[in-house]
Amino acid sequence: MLGWLTRPFRDRRRTRFLPPEADFQAALEVIPITGGLDADQVSRLRTLSATILAEKTFMGAHGLEPQPNLCLEIAIQAALPVLGLDETWYEQFSTFIIYPDDFVSDTEEVDEAGVVHRSRDIRAGEAWHRGPVVLSLTGIHAAGQGEGYNVIIHELAHQIDQLDGEANGLPPLHRGMDANDWCRVSESAFNALRETLESGQDPLIDPYAAESPAEFFAVSCEFFFERPDLLSEVFPEVYRQLARFFRQDPLERMLSLAEGT
Ligand SMILES: [Zn+2]
Repeated sequence: MLGWLTRPFRDRRRTRFLPPEADFQAALEVIPITGGLDADQVSRLRTLSATILAEKTFMGAHGLEPQPNLCLEIAIQAALPVLGLDETWYEQFSTFIIYPDDFVSDTEEVDEAGVVHRSRDIRAGEAWHRGPVVLSLTGIHAAGQGEGYNVIIHELAHQIDQLDGEANGLPPLHRGMDANDWCRVSESAFNALRETLESGQDPLIDPYAAESPAEFFAVSCEFFFERPDLLSEVFPEVYRQLARFFRQDPLERMLSLAEGT
């Protein structure tokens, strides 16, 4: 928690960690989901990335030493969900731990310590309540490509969800948003997804979302940023809800990019 730091001190730290423009642009190139941001949003993404680089520790596990470009790729994708919010949504954790390969956890539940356990093909990750965000290198490299997989956004969605206690798919909402509406929309989509899976049909979004309301929220966030077209097609009300929550519209960005080509 760095909340006690005075604003000028934070600003100085952030300036020191501001990625050079060329490095930042090069990183954006390998993260297609950042396409379609306007100049102000790109500038804000750079500042938020600097804040994350300044305030979080990036630790490697099993001999991995996180290189600056890897940290920058993580920071940019961590900054994207809070682009319309601010960095205070990440104040409950201080460390990213990066594993060289996928690691295996033996349960897929939220335990008493608030640890969300999961283990999946190419994008294993874990989000600990008030603990580190654990990522695997293969998961990081698969993220941001517009294919629906984003372990960074997935794990940070768990962090945001846990800000008001346990991960339950209901993050702390903004003033003017109704928790009853949020739950009605989420539950109805969650149940529809389960029915789709039971009937053997293609759910279009990652079936892992059917594991629990917490996973439904985390996977919905992945699709919101990675494949907003799919999420808005399958669960339009969930899409609208997330757009209000994150205060941004990735579908509009995607459509404006498509028009420009
Ligand atoms: Zn999860």
